[in-house]
Amino acid sequence: MPPHIIPGLSREESTDICMNRCRAMCCRGQLILQLRPEEIETFSERGKNLGAPVSVIVRPDGGGWVRFGDHPGERCPMLDEETFGCRIYDQRPQRCRDFPDRVTPGCIISGGTE
Ligand code: SF4
Ligand code: SF4
Repeated sequence: MPPHIIPGLSREESTDICMNRCRAMCCRGQLILQLRPEEIETFSERGKNLGAPVSVIVRPDGGGWVRFGDHPGERCPMLDEETFGCRIYDQRPQRCRDFPDRVTPGCIISGGTE
């Protein structure tokens, strides 16, 4: 599913907003990232390679939850704390690729703010 982004906003403009205005609000705080069953191992491995161990709660259906609050700085272990960029952007999980999938409160690029 392609993300829901304000029509006319270029990828460069979206990236600038996410990193410099919003500062990756959706990658930190009291939020949870959902992983597909087949993503858990590679996500954990990438975290280990980056020196950022990942704590995954495995769900009964085999998928996983990554609670940002369980990690240093209350952020996704893949988030660069200085640039607010994703350190595995090209290999990020499907949930991250799909987000925002609708007008989302607080999400600038989805049109969810004033
Ligand atoms: S909440 Fe929206 S605007 Fe903010 S970083 Fe995430 S996708 Fe970008
Ligand atoms: S993997 Fe990247 S895009 Fe996804 S929540 Fe973590 S930092 Fe954000």
